[in-house]
Amino acid sequence: MAKPSFWNNTKRYYDLKSYWRNRFGCRVHKLPLDAGFTCPNRDGSAGTGGCIYCDSRGSALRQAGALPGVEEQLRRGKDFYRRRGRPEKFIAYFQTFTNTYAPVGTLRTRYDEALADEDVVGLSIGTRPDCLPDETLSLLESYAERSHVWLEFGLQSIHDRTLRAINRGHDAATFLDAVRRASGGRLMICVHVIVGLPGESRADILQTARVVAGLPVAGIKIHSLLALAGTLLGERYTRGEVSLMDQAGYVETVCDILELMPPEMVIQRLTAEGYREIFLAPAWAQHKLAVLGAIERELERRDSWQGKHYGGTA
Ligand code: SF4
Repeated sequence: MAKPSFWNNTKRYYDLKSYWRNRFGCRVHKLPLDAGFTCPNRDGSAGTGGCIYCDSRGSALRQAGALPGVEEQLRRGKDFYRRRGRPEKFIAYFQTFTNTYAPVGTLRTRYDEALADEDVVGLSIGTRPDCLPDETLSLLESYAERSHVWLEFGLQSIHDRTLRAINRGHDAATFLDAVRRASGGRLMICVHVIVGLPGESRADILQTARVVAGLPVAGIKIHSLLALAGTLLGERYTRGEVSLMDQAGYVETVCDILELMPPEMVIQRLTAEGYREIFLAPAWAQHKLAVLGAIERELERRDSWQGKHYGGTA
């Protein structure tokens, strides 16, 4: 299969910037928000302690004192990003912790506040697959009828033994059921996966990728496992109990994953840097542009691109 022309880009994958430009005809930026929600994998409803790599502090904003409301965060965010890159429109990205973990009335208030901003063209809601009761799903579907709405599920791995090892507090079946329930309408689903989870081989990671590629999923976010101070993984890393992937292994694995994805899948992210103040390892992950450049070069070396092996067994 040749590289698709509808991407309208010079990359070897369908990146988010290109998708926004194709969809909205202008520069769009996802503006991260902290709406003050918590997480059921921390308060005991799904689990305690959280995922082993999760920074329990939430956003930097939450650490700084009283959390500003959604409207104020949008105002500040728009000013900040416009000074740097002049995007024309914004997607309100409810990012911190679990953004469907509240009564429907509270969720509606927060989402409405975001959509009231004239520069906001849609929502992106980050959540867990076990935190989507029917009435919340109906609420999200009602927004998707009149706006552009992404629902982002943290999955990380399709293997239950890995999900247990990282203390996700849900299994793969719960994820598959959430995708089934949320698909078929206008909601756009994005899935988060992590490369380099404890005990996973490359074959395990690619199995996760194949499953995601076969689902009604419109976008994917991929990043390497990061050890952060204040997390269980960070403690284990400091004690020398876990090793993290090197850049070459990460780049090769990401390219393998991209080759397996359908061509229309929007690649929302290929790296994560973590907060500098608590970052422990791997050091290479802090150099986002270098990692992205290495991925591009590896695809070039292979004469390959996203979707080249979609539906195949390579
Ligand atoms: S589900 Fe997300 S917010 Fe909750 S503990 Fe895991 S990584 Fe942290």
